[in-house]
Amino acid sequence: MKIRFNSVFQSDKYNRYMADLFSDYEFFRNKKYSALCQEELALVFGQNTYHLLTHSATGGLEMIAKAMDIRPGDEIIMPSFTFVSTANAFVSHGAIPVFADISISDFNLAFTEIEKKISEKTRAVVVTHYGGHSTNLDAIRQLCDAHQLIMIEDAAMAFGNSYNGQPLGTIGDMGVISFDITKQISAIQGGVLLVNTPDFMDRLDAIYHIGTNRTRFETQKVPYYEWIDTGSKYQMNELNAVALYDNLLNRAHILNKRKELSRIYFNELSSYADLILPEHKLQENIHLFYLLARSEEEREALRHHLSEKGIEAMFHYIPLHTSKMGKKFPSGTLPVTDHVSGSLLRLPLHTGMTEQDVVEVCDAVKRFYNGR
Ligand SMILES: *Cc1c(COP(=O)(O)O)cnc(C)c1O
Repeated sequence: MKIRFNSVFQSDKYNRYMADLFSDYEFFRNKKYSALCQEELALVFGQNTYHLLTHSATGGLEMIAKAMDIRPGDEIIMPSFTFVSTANAFVSHGAIPVFADISISDFNLAFTEIEKKISEKTRAVVVTHYGGHSTNLDAIRQLCDAHQLIMIEDAAMAFGNSYNGQPLGTIGDMGVISFDITKQISAIQGGVLLVNTPDFMDRLDAIYHIGTNRTRFETQKVPYYEWIDTGSKYQMNELNAVALYDNLLNRAHILNKRKELSRIYFNELSSYADLILPEHKLQENIHLFYLLARSEEEREALRHHLSEKGIEAMFHYIPLHTSKMGKKFPSGTLPVTDHVSGSLLRLPLHTGMTEQDVVEVCDAVKRFYNGR
């Protein structure tokens, strides 16, 4: 492939951080680079949000499900157009995922669809910020409050974006952001769990520390730490923290470069404006740049055409309600989800690309639509 779908950002300081970490055993023991990442994250998310660095956003979602004490039969409203982890965390505890349809304007949960799915058994609503862009979160927050539902943000793709000035991930009771290799800011593998409602903090803290009161020990509130709950080893490891620290320090460069490349995509493909990422989204950080083909056949033909030119383009998601596991749960029809997942194509977007690369991708797209 000449133009890859993604790449890893690494600054020229990366090797120096790594050598520093290995220079002293204490740096591992005290999690020096995790602590440095925490300082950067406090600048992004503010001091009022408690954040726990995790080995993945998937791990963060599992911690949330555990902290909620899910009981079999509890219902969790969520999109079907999302990653597997959104549902898996809750279903593992016996919850029923209640899939609601998305809106065609932003591919996020449609407010009226959420409302329709609320029942006596509903415990929570999980909103996925598709492509890192949000929807009418005030209204969803009010709806959750009115029905005493927990609001969870799967902000996996949303690092650095906000809603009415409030960082995404800090609006729900709890939220997760992913630092996976596929995301714009990356630890290679990693995530952060954001806890915005104090009620959950102690519980999550124990779950995070393999079911112990280790934090109380570290802050000298108890003389030793012991087993107090169930939990697991959800922490990020220090090697990933080095990669994350390097990315976090360069976040302005990374996010701006993605915006600049997205602007070129938009300008070059503006004659297909009804099919591409809407222009107003370019004000925000861009996780992905997409094109909506007119049918699944057209999408697959375009993907094939790009591949022949050495350009790697990808689609996602197989909707959860049509997947082998998801079909076990009743969902009704989700026409917008079906349409978007069948026609969406993600174009390459990463800091390893040049402006010329983007123009080349666009030329290939144009040749496809102009009869090659
Ligand atoms: C990437 C992603 C996840 C999973 O993140 P990991 O850090 O890879 O576990 C979950 N939900 C959504 C919406 C994602 O895009």
